[in-house]
Amino acid sequence: MEIDEPEQATDSAAVTLEPPRIRRLDESVVNRIAAGEVIQRPASAVKELVENSLDAGATSISVVVKDGGLKLIQVSDNGHGIRYEDLPILCERHTTSKLSAYEDLQTIKSMGFRGEALASMTYVGHVTVTTITEGQLHGYRVSYRDGVMEHEPRPCAAVRGTQIMVENLFYNMIARRKTLQNSSDDYPKIIDLISRFAVQNISVSFSCRKHGANRADVHTVAACSRLDAIRTVYGVSVARDLMEITTSDDNPARSIFKMDGFISNANYVAKKTTMILFINDRLVECTALKRAIEVVYSATLPKASKPFIYMSISLPSEHVDVNIHPTKREVSLLNQESLVETIQTAVESKLMNSNTSRTFQTQAVNSSVYTSQTSHISAKKDPQNSAFSSGTKSQKVPVHKMVRTDARDPFGRLHAYWQDGPASQHEKKSDLASVRNAVRLRRNPKESADLTSIHELLSDIDSSVHSGLLDIVKNGTYVGLADEVFALLQHNTHLYLMNVVSVSKELMYQQAIRRFSHFNAIQLSEPAPLQELLMIALKEEDVESMDDENDDLKQKIAEMNTELLKQKAEMLDELFCIHIDQEGNLTRLPVILDQHTPDMDYVPEFLLSLG
Ligand code: ADP
Ligand code: MG
Repeated sequence: MEIDEPEQATDSAAVTLEPPRIRRLDESVVNRIAAGEVIQRPASAVKELVENSLDAGATSISVVVKDGGLKLIQVSDNGHGIRYEDLPILCERHTTSKLSAYEDLQTIKSMGFRGEALASMTYVGHVTVTTITEGQLHGYRVSYRDGVMEHEPRPCAAVRGTQIMVENLFYNMIARRKTLQNSSDDYPKIIDLISRFAVQNISVSFSCRKHGANRADVHTVAACSRLDAIRTVYGVSVARDLMEITTSDDNPARSIFKMDGFISNANYVAKKTTMILFINDRLVECTALKRAIEVVYSATLPKASKPFIYMSISLPSEHVDVNIHPTKREVSLLNQESLVETIQTAVESKLMNSNTSRTFQTQAVNSSVYTSQTSHISAKKDPQNSAFSSGTKSQKVPVHKMVRTDARDPFGRLHAYWQDGPASQHEKKSDLASVRNAVRLRRNPKESADLTSIHELLSDIDSSVHSGLLDIVKNGTYVGLADEVFALLQHNTHLYLMNVVSVSKELMYQQAIRRFSHFNAIQLSEPAPLQELLMIALKEEDVESMDDENDDLKQKIAEMNTELLKQKAEMLDELFCIHIDQEGNLTRLPVILDQHTPDMDYVPEFLLSLG
């Protein structure tokens, strides 16, 4: 068969290189690659080891860490130990006592099942196991390297259970070791992890300390209740502000699950959300659920902080796919959406109900809209919450003019967004903005950049809106510029001076946050070399010294900054639409405000600050 091939194609075929040979990788290479995935960092090794101890039925687990886990991780438990006969294959890949047939995965209760953790550790560190089983007179100790024993198990004295020691983690993965050494060490992550396990496994006592320290940083004794465990680990101040929450669903068409947990109330203050989530006793993360709950908090308690959440969810094990992540950090759930929704609703109503102890002055509003509610008077459940009820204290407002907020009452909900107290009238309205925003987010969570930190910044913005000012800016009439900085604005019968510089800055900032990672681009008519732009900026900075002596230095600084920006080019492009090509030219800038072209004279200064 003859085919007329376009000439080009034949040309390019002529220059194509011979295909490289495909070879089978050495098993040790394969294993080391896989190991790097399972044991991503010291904290992941600790997680695997603690899970093994829990699987072994331990009631006491202690962890010792040196150098953020890079030098040493040692986990000792009092579990059932490991048989002498199993020691030779203990650290081979895919050896496990927990699973035999694939079908078992559906019903598996243990945390481990892949038989990969210990093996992986031996490929990226030095593992020594000391173990004794019930009824033995002495234990055995043996060290492993690359999946195999380094010597025959040696008899040794041992106390009940198993101790596993991992030394020099990532000794053979230079890059990873360096990154980990440069970043702050993993110890806080390890503490966090043990804290979570301790809250979930209340019948196990945990301790975690740095090598050589005589005080443990987490120490729990088998507690009588979950709340006791939370109190021991996270402190009285956290436990005091928690409410118990439970919910469940038993509708096969929607979802089947049971959830119980604790969530923070309006008095709790924190900058970051703490979410401890266990699904069928596995420590996991679920961004969708976390976000759904955060939304409820920011809508219900606008001035309040990020929540503390502990939740333990159990579902029929055939509804969870535990095998979607090598470190089992994520699981995939059947009907995740409706599960999240059910929990979200439960949290919402819990928060609303907890608000019954707040009373609100609503003279103006309630008489017209909420007439049916006016006779409901809040019985204060919680005297501690009196801070929220200045209305009751001042006794100026007749009791019948107060309404109680109630989750079942759709209008009444609005009140929950209004914080009473010395705060001005303006602030009450401003909270409505955050409600609107939260509702919008809930309807369409993908609308803005899909990053928690951005959501946090957005809700910071929304919660700090001063609605009085907002009203002036929105509904005022622009009169004209008074001078370079101030503009005149008329609102109702008042004339205002507005600092245009500050307002523009704030506007740009908010726009940038809202458009984060979704900017449109301004294409430069021709690529501008970073090096030169940076030099311009540096010279401008330093106009006074006329000598050229410093030029070398400036050149260096410009060079370093160019390099740095080039390195970050991908991130800058993706998140900020600042495009830098491989030659180190700036080619694109983000549109922050539609129909506004920034003054290009400031690009050099901008780049220098960026660097
Ligand atoms: P997995 O947990 O997926 O089975 P691991 O590599 O973590 O795989 O562990 C391999 C096996 O070693 C486990 O199945 C278990 O039988 C045994 N094991 C590991 N750690 C302990 C321990 N602390 N106590 C008792 N047995 C253990
Ligand atoms: Mg395991």
